[in-house]
Amino acid sequence: MAQLTDDCFAFSGPLLPIDEVERILRERVMPVAETETVPLRAAYGRVMASDVTAPISLPPFDNSAVDGYAVRAADLDRAAETRLAIMGRVTAGHAAAQALAPGAAIRIFTGAPMPAGADTVFMQEDVRLDAQAVLVPPGLEAGANRRLAGEDVRSGAVVLSAGCRLAAQHVALAAAVGLTQLPVRRRIRVAVLSTGDEIVEPGAPRPSAALFDANRFLLAGLLTGLGAEPSDLGIVPDDPERLEQAIAAAADAHDLVLTSGGVSTGEADHVRSAVEAIGRLVFWRVAVKPGRPVAMGVIPGSRPGTGAAFVGLPGNPVAVFVTFARVVRPLLARLSGADLAPLVALPVRATFGHRKKKGRREYIRVALRRGADGVIEAVKHPQDGAGVITSLTQTDGLVELLDDTTAIEPGASVGFLSYAALVG
Ligand code: AMP
Ligand code: MG
Repeated sequence: MAQLTDDCFAFSGPLLPIDEVERILRERVMPVAETETVPLRAAYGRVMASDVTAPISLPPFDNSAVDGYAVRAADLDRAAETRLAIMGRVTAGHAAAQALAPGAAIRIFTGAPMPAGADTVFMQEDVRLDAQAVLVPPGLEAGANRRLAGEDVRSGAVVLSAGCRLAAQHVALAAAVGLTQLPVRRRIRVAVLSTGDEIVEPGAPRPSAALFDANRFLLAGLLTGLGAEPSDLGIVPDDPERLEQAIAAAADAHDLVLTSGGVSTGEADHVRSAVEAIGRLVFWRVAVKPGRPVAMGVIPGSRPGTGAAFVGLPGNPVAVFVTFARVVRPLLARLSGADLAPLVALPVRATFGHRKKKGRREYIRVALRRGADGVIEAVKHPQDGAGVITSLTQTDGLVELLDDTTAIEPGASVGFLSYAALVG
């Protein structure tokens, strides 16, 4: 463990820009070293530990892309219909019994191997039949409707690269070239705990001034979706000692410890001082709204070589969501050795105006709709409090306003990030 080097990058400035957070994570966090080999069915969401190459070409043999008639292009009349005797039939999964003779055609179906001598396939919809012959129209290009061996993958080529987080299509590609298992890095173990005297477990008796815990459920789901292995460490009250103990114990057995709440500067906020007491604080304020107080640090374990990265997220669920997307997700990607494609915000038209402070990234919860002129519009949720959980469930994603922006007017083109893009 202890993948986070903690030398000389403590940040003491007022608010750390998001780009700086990403740079720190990129430069200072190393992936876990352990790898394992898993069967394909267990590979979804895992991160490739090394490149793998294709043992065979794909397709493995030339075959037909359509149901129709396999012919030789050289036999075709360029200007008029050509009459070809039907000399045989080949279906998927079977080799053609004989080579295609000159002046003839072979009935063929999708996926069936091209008979020797055939190079072009007419779709059955495009031909006429006459007794034992097929009449094919002029104008079809040589090689049409034929899939060449290796046109998808060449035997020996790298099909999956180290750092690829395996989605269904990647596992499908591995299966298609005949692989049965893949080398992956081990899952990142993440301890999740909530802080706050007011937080109680759903289902437990709720005192009148208490709230049911939403954040542990939010974080467990987000982590699982990213292929990490969350462990639920429950709720810790606003007590400095118990917080230190809980974080230190969690750091011993995990790669990352995530808390929510207690991270700002209120008198009952003890997360920052707990991290300073038992570990090292890297930064604790990020120029992002909602979010701002986000503590990141390193917590050593009790034995040499152990220890964990630490992120203290804010308490409000919407701030948890946003800071998870912008801080925890890139951190997890680094720890797990996964490539992190940059977030690409898609242009949409704002139906709202907004003013903001320069120097911080701001995220606005929006629902999408199609405007009267067909352009996609972003409609701001009526409630923008960071504690309003329905503002996340009733919207489609976030409009991202960059650090330099100070105002947008209704009708402006703004960048939209779907929830799937942010945390998928
Ligand atoms: P804090 O940062 O601890 O002051 O928390 C900010 C707000 O988030 C407060 O209103 C808390 O009650 C709320 N909050 C903190 N933790 C949770 C949680 N686990 N689930 C739901 N709300 C929370
Ligand atoms: Mg609190």
